[in-house]
Amino acid sequence: MTRKGPLSYTQKQGHNFSACRQGRKRRPQGIDARSRRSGKRFLKFGYFGDGMNSFYLHIPFCLSKCRYCGFNSVPAPGAEEIERYCRALERDIRETKLEIRNVETAYFGGGTPTLLSAGQIENLISALEKKASFEKSAEITIEANPETMTSEKLSHLRTLGFSRLSLGVQSFDDGLLKILGRPHDSGQAMAAYRLARRAGFENIGLDLIYGLPGQSMKQWERDLRRAAELGPEHISAYSLTYEPGTEFTAWREQGWIEPCGEDLEAEMFLLAHQYLPTAGYQHYEVSNFSRPGHRCRHNLNYWRCGDYLGFGAGASSHIEGRRWTNVSDWREYVIRLESGQSPIGFSEELSSGQRWFEAIFLGLRMIEGMAIEEFKSRWGQRPDEYKPEVWEKLSKEGYIISRQGRLCFTSQGLMIADLLLSNFAP
Ligand code: SF4
Repeated sequence: MTRKGPLSYTQKQGHNFSACRQGRKRRPQGIDARSRRSGKRFLKFGYFGDGMNSFYLHIPFCLSKCRYCGFNSVPAPGAEEIERYCRALERDIRETKLEIRNVETAYFGGGTPTLLSAGQIENLISALEKKASFEKSAEITIEANPETMTSEKLSHLRTLGFSRLSLGVQSFDDGLLKILGRPHDSGQAMAAYRLARRAGFENIGLDLIYGLPGQSMKQWERDLRRAAELGPEHISAYSLTYEPGTEFTAWREQGWIEPCGEDLEAEMFLLAHQYLPTAGYQHYEVSNFSRPGHRCRHNLNYWRCGDYLGFGAGASSHIEGRRWTNVSDWREYVIRLESGQSPIGFSEELSSGQRWFEAIFLGLRMIEGMAIEEFKSRWGQRPDEYKPEVWEKLSKEGYIISRQGRLCFTSQGLMIADLLLSNFAP
């Protein structure tokens, strides 16, 4: 998490939130008798089955590594190794003892999942389907990058049941795309978007980044306008952060690039916050905007501290306060599964204080904030009973407001959400 500003690009996936550093323990293993009586489906490590059920699959391969990228992703190895990874992933899913009905969301993220062949993606989907049944209206998302999309692949994805495509555009400015080290240009991004529409995707999200070195307000305004003109159902706008180990961080240290100033970055945030609603997009989370009825249900589950299971290198799972994360190195992940070992690298049991903090941390990211009574019935206490002095200070300073039984950030607070949220850290 960075010093300030809205959700950063590298925090875009709920499973990567630093407040939710997941890690931990072996997978759920069975349902006990008590749960059957109560109607809840308790697994060894908590229940999974009430409320929203979500899966995450991680594909760590990309065509090349973007210069700013701090995700768990690497340039794609040879075809054989990718196949080995897919087999390990299938095995991970297969060996997990699940009895899950009514899965509501699944998310293939990365990396670039569309780098896999249609057959590999099909095998992964059918491995999941053998373990769980999906709701008819399930939101099944795949992340895609423009350079990996063909009309055949997109049609195949639709046939396999993917209902949502998250397209990594980042910018429509070819100069900025080059600086970022993206392997596509704006023409390819727009062509990929149109191909997806033609293939029948009715729910498309575009990712944009702002606060880039050398980016002007005019360029950012143009990016926002072009994105809105294309008319996707969802737009994510992330501020760039300098992650350890990235080329950008090294370049900044060498003085080869100058980071965007904090004031300019705040103005860019405000522009998105003000402009996108005029183009029909509701601002519903610090970095996310959608047309009515098209909020990303998968991410909403993360932000509401829901349960989810993750498969793949570095993927995390959370069930009722237990979190665990697979080893992040994809080779180690493959070796562990091939040799019958657990892929889990880290696990933890959250204390009630941590869970309380995380519910606040994530809940405040939602533009509508948190319903006080609902929060109390779920977590046992009102949000503002946790570190009351921080709530008092932030509301006195005009960053947090209480209205209609809810607590939320003001526009001023949203601009520096990360900085403010760090005040709540245990
Ligand atoms: S395409 Fe995405 S995951 Fe892959 S290197 Fe670029 S930013 Fe990272």
